[in-house]
Amino acid sequence: MKNRRFIPMIIYVAVLVLVFSWTTGLFSQKSATLSYSQVVDLFRAEQVKSFVVEDQTITMELYTPISGKSSVTTTLADPQSFRLEMNDLLKSQRESGVLQGYDFVPQKGFSASELIFPLLTVGVILLLLWAMFMGRMNNSNPMSNFGKARTVLGVPDGKKVTFADVAGADEEKEELREVVDFLRAPEKYTEIGARIPHGLLLVGPPGTGKTLLARAVAGEADVQFLSISGSDFVEMYVGVGASRVRDLFDQAKKVAPAIIFIDEIDAVGRKRGSGLGGGHDEKEQTLNQLLVEMDGFGRTEGVIVMAATNRPDILDPALLRPGRFDRQIHVGVPDVKGREEILKVHARGKKLSEDVNLRTVARSTSGFTGADLSNLLNEAAILAARDSRAAVNMEDMNEAMMKILAGPAKKSRVQSRRDLKTTAIHESGHAVAMYYLPTHDPVRHISIVPRGSSLGATWYLPKDDSSNLTRNEMYEQIVGLLGGRVAEDVFLGDISVGASNDIDRATKLAKDMVARYGMCERLGTVSYLDGGEVFIGRDYQTSKSSFEKVAGTIDEEVKSLIDRAYDHCRKILTDHADKLRELSDYLLANESISGEQFARMMEGKELGEATQTVLFDGFGEPREEPKDQE
Ligand code: ADP
Ligand code: MG
Ligand code: ZN
Repeated sequence: MKNRRFIPMIIYVAVLVLVFSWTTGLFSQKSATLSYSQVVDLFRAEQVKSFVVEDQTITMELYTPISGKSSVTTTLADPQSFRLEMNDLLKSQRESGVLQGYDFVPQKGFSASELIFPLLTVGVILLLLWAMFMGRMNNSNPMSNFGKARTVLGVPDGKKVTFADVAGADEEKEELREVVDFLRAPEKYTEIGARIPHGLLLVGPPGTGKTLLARAVAGEADVQFLSISGSDFVEMYVGVGASRVRDLFDQAKKVAPAIIFIDEIDAVGRKRGSGLGGGHDEKEQTLNQLLVEMDGFGRTEGVIVMAATNRPDILDPALLRPGRFDRQIHVGVPDVKGREEILKVHARGKKLSEDVNLRTVARSTSGFTGADLSNLLNEAAILAARDSRAAVNMEDMNEAMMKILAGPAKKSRVQSRRDLKTTAIHESGHAVAMYYLPTHDPVRHISIVPRGSSLGATWYLPKDDSSNLTRNEMYEQIVGLLGGRVAEDVFLGDISVGASNDIDRATKLAKDMVARYGMCERLGTVSYLDGGEVFIGRDYQTSKSSFEKVAGTIDEEVKSLIDRAYDHCRKILTDHADKLRELSDYLLANESISGEQFARMMEGKELGEATQTVLFDGFGEPREEPKDQE
């Protein structure tokens, strides 16, 4: 191997460099080494009788000897600036006669000492390269600063977060209160011999406030919060992740009581042996170290490990065993009450006008996470500020909502008449199909104003918070998604690329139905998907051929499901062709229509007044909240 012979070479060069620099006197000043300021002080104190500067050495004859020597030699890192700085002083001392003579010997080409620095630099770089190379070969190499955990001690923005900042999430907070209590007074628990969970895993979709909750626990208990992200452990060099884990736990023990928070733990905690490369990779070592650390520290130490993930299914089972992350807390997408509370928290410090009803907003934002809601209010505030208005109104909320769902409106984008017609037919196809599908969520707004990357949009939002989709609901969603493409096909006789996103989503839904949720008879109630991807490697390693057979069947079933939905959609749209034409003409003339007006159009009624706010009108309004029982 070429590299093997290269290493002794590097050592050789490094040693040479060291010896060379040693002998040329950099490290062996014969007289006392003075610092730059000491030299300057000698001049200020009028102690220098005469001096000579040659290269980077200065030799001074002194009035008062230093440690018995009246002639002192020392180095000057930068004789040039020394000369500039001292110029005035030298002149005056020369005139007064204190300084009897001096000389700056002109440079004569390259001197040995000038070569030393470049050489040294090269040497150091080579040494570093060599050490890193060795680090790859042998992970016990103590490149210790690589292994320092990139933790953030304390709360990143210095603001203390408490449970009051986490709205909704009452059950989650209740479960975490116990941990807070333990951190406040660990003795109470340990004396009685109670077993406090070692590790808590917060599980939930992104943006639901997992990080926020972890910070709030630390804030409530008033303990140190050491947070690190799973991806920080994942480094190029083998062994670095493992040493970061070690370092993190050491730090925590020093500052205990403390919370260690590992965000996005799935980055390190994946099932071992599931990678296609297989075998002992960096992640595996890091994970092993994490397991060792979690087993190794006692309950008395007052350290609790928290972690967050949105993919608990891909975590290595060893992580979830007793003594490790033995308690899971599910942080869910907030319900309507939770959403209202979250909106209230984030509305603090923002000026809202009278017409903004957060309850209505909460009702219309089913499926939104805390992060989405915070984003919504912020976008609305930005819109209000842009128009130099003092307060956020409902129209801002509405526009912000559409912006979040589909990107900002691009009213100025010039579109050809033909494109507009295609878009109008396409969106009308979605809307009409959705209207005649009994389980489909109601259409809230239709527009052919381009937004983000799409040319038009049909918005639909769920009536309520049900999160459990049935087979029929999923199927009807596919039908609705195909509405745009089918309408182009039927009413324009040609199809466009504008439906590609719809087709992607429909295909994904169909695949989920067939391969994930066991909703197809031919494949039975079996899941063939491992978290989004069709199983590869892991469980089917041994029977590749049988897997290929199943994969073929999945594809066939997905196609037949989509074909069925396509025909269904075509039937709806041809049955209601007049409605579709009416809608698309209206859109061409008016650009958009509210959900309420659309519903009236479908019922054959007068359209009535166009309301300003389109997303929040008409829906979910009168439905009274059930009164509290007390
Ligand atoms: P996760 O870690 O689950 O992805 P975060 O904790 O990072 O989510 O939440 C992102 C942001 O969303 C928070 O900073 C906060 O502003 C907001 N947020 C999320 N959930 C809530 C909640 N329950 N109450 C208040 N704000 C929330
Ligand atoms: Mg987070
Ligand atoms: Zn579409």
